[in-house]
Amino acid sequence: MKAIRFHAHGGPDVLRFEDVADPVPGPGDALVRVRACALNHLDLWERRGIQKVRIPLPHISGSDVAGEVVSAPRGSPPPGTRVMLQPGLGCGACAACLSGADNLCARFDVLGYKSDGGYAELVTVPAANLLPIPDTVDWVRAAAFPLTFLTAWHMLVARARVQAGEWVLVLAAGSGVGQAAIQVARLHGARVIATAGTAAKRERALGLGAESAIDHYGPSLVDEVRSVTAGRGVDVAIEHVGEATWDRSVRALARGGRLVTCGATTGPNGHIDLRALFARQISLLGSYMGSKGELVQAAQLMFIGRLVPIVDSVFPLERAADAQAYLESGEHFGKVVLTT
Ligand SMILES: [Zn+2]
Repeated sequence: MKAIRFHAHGGPDVLRFEDVADPVPGPGDALVRVRACALNHLDLWERRGIQKVRIPLPHISGSDVAGEVVSAPRGSPPPGTRVMLQPGLGCGACAACLSGADNLCARFDVLGYKSDGGYAELVTVPAANLLPIPDTVDWVRAAAFPLTFLTAWHMLVARARVQAGEWVLVLAAGSGVGQAAIQVARLHGARVIATAGTAAKRERALGLGAESAIDHYGPSLVDEVRSVTAGRGVDVAIEHVGEATWDRSVRALARGGRLVTCGATTGPNGHIDLRALFARQISLLGSYMGSKGELVQAAQLMFIGRLVPIVDSVFPLERAADAQAYLESGEHFGKVVLTT
C-alpha cells in the first residue's frame, strides 16, 4: 500500500509518501480501506517527538479514520460496510474497559499514536472499534468527527456535567476541539462564550451558536467574560491551549466553576492560587479522549445533523506534509482532512 511515514522526528519535511507492506490484521482485528483521515495536533507532537514517549519508527500517524471494511472477524460488520473508527484502543479485558471507561485503561492507546494509523490506504483496528456510518454521511465528515467530538463530549458531559443554562467558555474556537465543544455545549442547553485570534474566526464561532466571541490575545479576556455574564464568570471552562491561557481561564470561572483541560498546546505549566481554589470552590478536571460508548452516543447526533463536524480543508494523502504545515500555521477553522 501507499502510506505517509516518518523515519526520524522533525519538521513536515520528514513525512515521506512511500510504499509500505500491507498491514496484517491480528486475531480479533479488522482490516479497513482508508477513504479519509483527519489531522489532529497529536500527529504534530508525534512527528516532532515527545519527551519520555517512544514512538515506534518508522511511523504512520492518523487517529481519525473513515473507510470501508475489507475483512473482519465473524460477527463484525461485514466487508464493504462504511465505517468510522473509534480512535481509542483499550485492552478490552481490565476493570476499566469492562465497565465502559476504556479511556481509563492502564494500557489505553490512541490509534496512530504508538500503533500505525490512518495516513495510509489500509489500517487495522480491533473489530470493536468499527462504527458503521449511514450513506448520508460522507467520508470526509465521518473522518472529521471522532477524536474531537469524543474529546469535547467527554469533557462537557462526563467530566464537567454541563447543565442547561450554564455559561461555558470555549478556548480557541477555531480548533478541532473548540468547534466541537461549542456544538456539544449548545446541544445541552448551555450558553457559550468562545475565544479566537481573528475577527473571521470569532464570526464563525458566533455562527456555531456562541453568544459572544472574544479575542484570546486581548488583555481583557477575564473582564469581557465578567461583563457578558453580569459579573459572575463561567460555570465551565474548556481548556486545551495550556500555558498561554491557563491563568485567565481559571480567573474567568464563577464560584463553584469547573475547568476541564484536555491539552497543553502552548506549554505544560499552569499556576493555581490555592486560596482561590478553595475559597471559590473551583474544580480542576483532567480529560483524555472518551469511552467507546460516548462516541456511539455522540455519533447518533451527528448522523441526524445535530452535531456537524466543521471541515476547513481537504488534501490528498500524498500532500500530508502541506496539510500538517497548514495545521501548524493555526490559520484553519475546523478540521484538516486527508483523502486517499
Ligand atoms: Zn483495559
